[in-house]
Amino acid sequence: MTIITPTEKTRVRRRPERAAYDLQTIHDILDEALVCHIGVATESGPRVIPTAIIRIGEHVYVHGSPNNQLLTALADGAPACITVTLVDSVVAGRSGFGMSMDYRSVMIFGTAEKIEDIDEKERLVAAFVEDIVPGHIVRPPKKKELAATVFLRFPISEASAKIRNHGVVDPEEDHALDVWAGVVPLKLVAGEPRNCADLKPGIPTPDYVMRYRRPSAK
Ligand SMILES: Cc1cc2nc3c(=O)[nH]c(=O)nc-3n(C[C@H](O)[C@H](O)[C@H](O)COP(=O)(O)OP(=O)(O)OC[C@H]3O[C@@H](n4cnc5c(N)ncnc54)[C@H](O)[C@@H]3O)c2cc1C
Repeated sequence: MTIITPTEKTRVRRRPERAAYDLQTIHDILDEALVCHIGVATESGPRVIPTAIIRIGEHVYVHGSPNNQLLTALADGAPACITVTLVDSVVAGRSGFGMSMDYRSVMIFGTAEKIEDIDEKERLVAAFVEDIVPGHIVRPPKKKELAATVFLRFPISEASAKIRNHGVVDPEEDHALDVWAGVVPLKLVAGEPRNCADLKPGIPTPDYVMRYRRPSAK
């Protein structure tokens, strides 16, 4: 098991028993997530953007338009804080302060490296396709599409995971109350696929779409 050594920034201080620094745990959480939030301090104040994220090896990748202000700031070297959150359950305690959530989250600190190589950009497009809808076959990207897209990567080197998985934690004096307490597990579940309005007639809905699920829901 590869462990990332916690730094001053990444050592979990609040509830340290919920921390995980092993790469496998961090990778699993990143792989299940579709979306991350990237926080950056800009000249006009703090900004956070939600955006698609993929992991390849020990890096995470995001992409977007060169007009995206935050991606531009990141490409220029602004330090970033990236978070990914998976909510596994809502937790109903016997008091307001007993309400909680079971979750798995990751926080990554770092600066971006801009991907300039056109072949690498093409591989990344394929990786985003595979991450969002595994098995989906699409037309190859055009050179001008690749040129007009910013791809950034961040190392998963200064990172931590935090996991809460123990449901209700009420003070003992509340256990005798006539109040229900427990958890409601939550899952990201695929709905029924819908063809797009201008789909060429005769194209069947692929199996990989009918059976769509995120990594955790195996
Ligand atoms: C779905 C969800 C709901 C939450 N609800 C609440 C809430 O209602 N109230 C509340 O106080 N906290 C909540 N938390 C926990 C919250 O994310 C923080 O961990 C906690 O508030 C402590 O913050 P801190 O700044 O004191 O952390 P510290 O322990 O001081 O943070 C130090 C370092 O630990 C790491 N770290 C801290 N938190 C996380 C994390 N969540 N994931 C990965 N690494 C982390 C980071 O590297 C951070 O820089 C929630 C978390 C999740 C995922």
